[in-house]
Amino acid sequence: MQHRIIVLGAGYTGASAAGRLAKRLRGEDVAITLVNAEPDFVERVRMHQLAAGQDLTPRPLSEMFAGTGVEVRLAKVTGVDVERRTVAVADANGPGELGYDTLVYALGSGWNAEGVPGAAEHAYEIAGRAGALRLRERLARLDAGQSVVVVGGGLTGVEIATEIAEARPDLDVALAARDALGDWLSPKGRAHLRKVFGRLGITAHEHAAVTGVEADRVTTADGQAIPAAVTVWTTGFAVHPIAQATALEVTGTGQIVVDGTLRSVSHPDVYAVGDAAMVMGPGDKPLRMSCASGVPGAWQAADAIAARLTGGKLPNGTIRYFNQCISLGRKEGLIQFVTADDRAVGAALTGRLAAVYKELVCKAAAWGVANPTLGMPTRRRRVTQRAAARSSVKAPA
Ligand SMILES: Cc1cc2nc3c(=O)[nH]c(=O)nc-3n(C[C@H](O)[C@H](O)[C@H](O)COP(=O)(O)OP(=O)(O)OC[C@H]3O[C@@H](n4cnc5c(N)ncnc54)[C@H](O)[C@@H]3O)c2cc1C
Repeated sequence: MQHRIIVLGAGYTGASAAGRLAKRLRGEDVAITLVNAEPDFVERVRMHQLAAGQDLTPRPLSEMFAGTGVEVRLAKVTGVDVERRTVAVADANGPGELGYDTLVYALGSGWNAEGVPGAAEHAYEIAGRAGALRLRERLARLDAGQSVVVVGGGLTGVEIATEIAEARPDLDVALAARDALGDWLSPKGRAHLRKVFGRLGITAHEHAAVTGVEADRVTTADGQAIPAAVTVWTTGFAVHPIAQATALEVTGTGQIVVDGTLRSVSHPDVYAVGDAAMVMGPGDKPLRMSCASGVPGAWQAADAIAARLTGGKLPNGTIRYFNQCISLGRKEGLIQFVTADDRAVGAALTGRLAAVYKELVCKAAAWGVANPTLGMPTRRRRVTQRAAARSSVKAPA
């Protein structure tokens, strides 16, 4: 009998995990199904580009996975029953159910309005393709001189503010940050960010915690009203509520708690990767939601599953950071080098070279999804019944 592996979500991490599993295990021993709501692989790290009017390369999952041994199933996941080992799905034919022996949960995350009054009703977001396209359409209808306020001074906020300002120099673009602009960067990185904001004419409202959003303005904790024909909300991501509704052990924010092999600490036949998982990095610090840490995590999960099913050696690497790659429009960038646990060091790369670097990183990330062993030769191993039976048994604490 084939061992049934179901991977939920074909974003950076789910697609990488599914592809890598197919390279590690014999096709006759396993049935790998990749379930995704959309027919395409979406390059989420380029959603600011899509929103600003650029067209992205279409990447149909059916083409990416043709001949790999991974079956792509187009459906929306509506629930998971970890006791019965089933996934509830809905597709054009109505509701259905899929049974699994091993589950990889990789449903990613969406935007997080944080309960701020008016944000859910009036703000735009770029956490996924639908949101980015909605913003794109709205921006196209704005007249010269109208105001766009980006709420959130993190990487996503900085990327969308600069992208819009570069594409639409006729608009009045501002960014509201809770703290000082780029305060997480090195002095060199911060200075460069300010320089680019100045050049693009972006107003930075610093120490401005936004507490309300209306159709034509945002208001801040200190009572300031900032005009905003369009508000873009980028203060962080929130995971989908599906895991929280299961018996899986999750954090207060709904991320699945996993061990160093990305395996659920409560259910040994479930793995979680990417934004959906709470993964510890160097110094036992949680890794932030990112493609940069999510993809190595997906490789680790796939290698661990393959090792457990074949009686091989478990991977035991720690996932670390090297740099934060930030685009500042198409012509400018900022590569902030960081410690293993993601704190800025003095060195930073800026300017056009940084823009090229970032573009190469984005291209490499998409290439890596289609080439989940990075072109290295691989050996597909046999699943043994004994190892497979052991793989779903909880290790003693
Ligand atoms: C504008 C922007 C810029 C970013 N820039 C960077 C960057 O420079 N570097 C970096 O490291 N990170 C960046 N990130 C973060 C990065 O994109 C995410 O951390 C990463 O995509 C997480 O990967 P994932 O596989 O967990 O989730 P995703 O890539 O979001 O994939 C989740 C998949 O699950 C599918 N899905 C969701 N719900 C369901 C459901 N119910 N049923 C079926 N399918 C479902 C989705 O369609 C999607 O295909 C950026 C994010 C944004 C929005």
